[in-house]
Amino acid sequence: MVKLSLEFLGSGTSVGVPCIGCDCPVCTSTDPLNKRLRSSALVRGYDAAGNVATTVVIDTSADFRQQMLRAGVRHLDAVLISHHHADHVVGIDDVRRYNALQNAPLDCWATPGTLATLRQSFWYVFSDVDYVRWGLPCLRPRPIAHGQPIEVGCLRIEPLALDHEVIQNTGFRITCDGSAALAYCLDVKRIPPESYARLKGTHTLVLDMLRETPHPTHMSLSEALEAVARIAPQRAWFAHIAHEVDHRALEARLPPHIRVAYDGLVLEIS
Ligand SMILES: [Zn+2]
Ligand SMILES: [Zn+2]
Ligand SMILES: [Zn+2]
Repeated sequence: MVKLSLEFLGSGTSVGVPCIGCDCPVCTSTDPLNKRLRSSALVRGYDAAGNVATTVVIDTSADFRQQMLRAGVRHLDAVLISHHHADHVVGIDDVRRYNALQNAPLDCWATPGTLATLRQSFWYVFSDVDYVRWGLPCLRPRPIAHGQPIEVGCLRIEPLALDHEVIQNTGFRITCDGSAALAYCLDVKRIPPESYARLKGTHTLVLDMLRETPHPTHMSLSEALEAVARIAPQRAWFAHIAHEVDHRALEARLPPHIRVAYDGLVLEIS
């Protein structure tokens, strides 16, 4: 029975795929698997009857509005923000539709450093009041710490430190009602030893894999394959993918337990 699911709202890198002004084979491809919005994901926890009990979004990407319309999301229980890079946060203004629909503020979970940077860029989105301010997003800042799990509805979420080279990023290890563990680790160049320890026993791993050639702040194909081998999940999905990667061409070269994510893909965990 499914206890937990993750839907890829976007599987692309910061500029999306296709990129503006590019005529490469992937950007001009007609294959829908090569169309990638900016990275974010929807996580749902289910009750014993199989109904959705908790829905959270990881990151409010630059394509947030389009993604939530496409996924048909009418209710959110919380927002998790991995880090403050623009591709992961600039859609934050559109959470106000959920404030209006639910007539309530929404919890926004992030590290104190990410919350502070969000306050600088989007000073008006946070509020400590208990009512919805008309026309404005209304997020309650909720600090998280790496290695200290939080509970959001039926979801247990453990924030993990990730080394993104220019800043520290946050990954998430998620379970629901004793389910197998799903881990979402994007925007990472190196996984610190303490996070490798916490990723032990992960069933389904979502991992940063930008492209084949090395990049200063993201894992390349060889680095991602090495990390998957070390964590040894049942299955792994590569995401945050750049336009150098043709979906079908890469998948054909990967072992069967490692796949390439695409927009709209839903992973289910029991
Ligand atoms: Zn990113
Ligand atoms: Zn291109
Ligand atoms: Zn980033």
